[in-house]
Amino acid sequence: MIRVAIIPGDGIGPEVMTGVIPLLDWSRARGRELEWVTFPYGADHFLNTGETLSDRHFADLRDTFDAILFGAVGDTRIPDGRHAEQLLLRLRQGLELHVNFRPCRPFLAIHIPLKDLQPDEIDIEVFRENTEGPYCLRGRTEEELAVDEAVHTARAIRILLATAFEQASGRACPLTLAQKANVLKHGHGLWIRIFKELCADYPSVAAETMHADALLCALVQNPRRFGVIAADNFIGDLTSDLLAGFQGGMGMAPSASWAPHRPFRCNALFEPVHGSAPDIAGTGKANPVGMILSTSLLFRHLGWEEEAARLHQAVGEVLRSGIATPDLAGSATCQEVQRAVAKVLG
Ligand code: ATP
Repeated sequence: MIRVAIIPGDGIGPEVMTGVIPLLDWSRARGRELEWVTFPYGADHFLNTGETLSDRHFADLRDTFDAILFGAVGDTRIPDGRHAEQLLLRLRQGLELHVNFRPCRPFLAIHIPLKDLQPDEIDIEVFRENTEGPYCLRGRTEEELAVDEAVHTARAIRILLATAFEQASGRACPLTLAQKANVLKHGHGLWIRIFKELCADYPSVAAETMHADALLCALVQNPRRFGVIAADNFIGDLTSDLLAGFQGGMGMAPSASWAPHRPFRCNALFEPVHGSAPDIAGTGKANPVGMILSTSLLFRHLGWEEEAARLHQAVGEVLRSGIATPDLAGSATCQEVQRAVAKVLG
């Protein structure tokens, strides 16, 4: 029996998560052995109890579930975002989810803001290290001085890069390491050293390194030339948000995080790339596609290839029929898109 923990979270998180339950029900109706438990972690829970994710609750997730479906966290009532840090970063770091996978495969040409590009010409996968870099939340603020530290460990870099090399070797596409080793000499110097070591293990992969700023420019000018991109936490975050723009916007992009070395029973977490978007929460305008595609990535992770492919195709069919939320210039609500996808699945 596969056990999935569902954490809808804050803002539009619960709205986009609502549509996931019928998809899980559908997989179960097809004979998949799946059960799920929904948890209240997020801003309300924190404000009511003073607790984000206790050690006991974390251990429960880690040891008695196989994967987590996560909506979004972030709430204007907690401006410093400490509940979000303690929840999402704790899960990413505590479960050693070093690999964050963010694919970019647009469905429709009208979603791509670049001219003369067809959806099948863009197939880019970002592998972002998910636990370290400048997002490790170490630093200090003094009167007139602020310091953020960026921590990079060889272990996390190796786990991330080995996964990216493996993927690139299966796809016969270039692997590009995005870095700024010319200025971030220590951290990104280590990335380059390990990248070169792995190049020797994967001679068939067309591996290259690029300065991240130049890469972003090249991505806009000629996305066709890229396949797999590997990056640290910060650069991977920026790169994948740019690529979300090629898919129709923040609401369209899915992500999967996992621990290839499988240190615990719970070794994967699936969440849309977007955040809690408080500006549109409760209005019905949230695009649920990123969350639905993240569910498809969960199915793939479980080895349920047919369910994963059918769910992905169902999203394409719904979008092609013109059912879409306002961010895609459509007039459907979040719930209408969710229902349309479930209906296509049957
Ligand atoms: P985080 O740092 O947590 O990723 P963020 O500050 O990058 O958060 P988001 O919450 O992702 O911000 O939202 C940025 C903007 O994109 C929102 O203000 C919202 O207008 C839009 N947006 C995000 N997600 C969606 C969605 N699912 N549907 C429609 N619009 C969205």
